[in-house]
Amino acid sequence: MDRKLMIHFGELITKGKNRKNFVKQLEDNIKHALKSFNVTYDVSHDHIYISFLDKEKDAIISRLQDVSGIHAISEILVIDNKLETLQQVALEIAKDEKKKTFKIETRRLYKQYPLVSDVINRQIARVILQNTNMKVDVHNPELLLKIQIYEKEAFIFYKTYSGSGGYPLGVGAKSLLLLSGGIDSPVAAYHMLRRGMKLECIHFAAPPYTSQAVIDKLKELLSVLNKYQPQIKLHIIPFTKIQEAIYKEVPEPYCITIMRRAMFKIATKVARQIKARALVTGESLGQVASQTLESIDVINEVTNIPIIRPLATVDKIDIIKTAMHIGTYEISIIPYEDCCTIFTPRNPTTRPKLENCLEYEARIVNLDEMIDISVKEREIIIVKEQEESKFF
Ligand code: ATP
Ligand code: MG
Repeated sequence: MDRKLMIHFGELITKGKNRKNFVKQLEDNIKHALKSFNVTYDVSHDHIYISFLDKEKDAIISRLQDVSGIHAISEILVIDNKLETLQQVALEIAKDEKKKTFKIETRRLYKQYPLVSDVINRQIARVILQNTNMKVDVHNPELLLKIQIYEKEAFIFYKTYSGSGGYPLGVGAKSLLLLSGGIDSPVAAYHMLRRGMKLECIHFAAPPYTSQAVIDKLKELLSVLNKYQPQIKLHIIPFTKIQEAIYKEVPEPYCITIMRRAMFKIATKVARQIKARALVTGESLGQVASQTLESIDVINEVTNIPIIRPLATVDKIDIIKTAMHIGTYEISIIPYEDCCTIFTPRNPTTRPKLENCLEYEARIVNLDEMIDISVKEREIIIVKEQEESKFF
């Protein structure tokens, strides 16, 4: 008897012609994620099978649960397909599990098998009923034993674990995420990565108002996200001069709007250079003054690149839940200075007007030039997964 893990593809199934590429990408991603484990693979049209060492099983499953594109992971027993063997193994599992009710659900994938599914179900159930105190419950069984019959073997599904769903990383184009040190943007990153989109990140730093501690915090956040994308590039934009100029020339209620317009202009230029096809932010509608629809409208006016806001309609409490789930929350809540928070005006406008923005921007001499310089003088760092990151 052989134990294996069977990978279910989930959403991939709908992908028709692209399916082959998706499966290949998922296979590569799984192999990368499990590179430090002692495993072997067997790839079929519908599934990937993984043979493993017993002592590594739990760690392998928890690693696989972070690989996007996996719908579920089943632990299966591979046995021969004789009825007696099926009866014997099913009985052993039933005895081990110590449940009160059960149901057997057989699928005969090899149609020439001499018994039909219903007969197999009844024959196995008979043995369990005779040798245990368990009863059959077809509607709500405590133990559901699924069996699949193939030409040369049979699978008994022992346990099934949920996967993260989504698409395999790398099947989508690249995007550029605006990463602050807060709770939201790492969660936005997670949502994009689960859709198979690779990310690079951009951060606006305003030293000496913001410190190196912020950059260290971002590195820490990215190293948590490395379990979804093993290598992430971070572009750090020197933003101090632009911010100082804005706060000198622009009436206070408009500072945040103008600052965010500058951020999006810079991010668009970087995105075009690195061939990213969209910007991504952690914005959530109504959360702060700059996230009203009126603000978003005038801020968007500076760019024609798509802007994806995965959290646009998500409540903060649910964003926090996801942040806890992926492991970024504890890092995000460490206090930090963001360029958005240190220059916070007392009364930011929630309904900025475009003509005002254009007028105030015209007051800042050399704004375009400063923007180009900040793009040119950006620092780039790469955060990679650690080799010893076998058990996250
Ligand atoms: P977060 O928790 O992600 O910081 P927030 O609720 O604090 O978000 P804002 O500070 O208004 O909201 O920022 C909204 C979005 O703008 C962030 O999610 C992020 O994508 C981007 N952003 C804000 N500050 C910066 C920064 N210094 N560098 C890069 N992006 C930023
Ligand atoms: Mg923030």
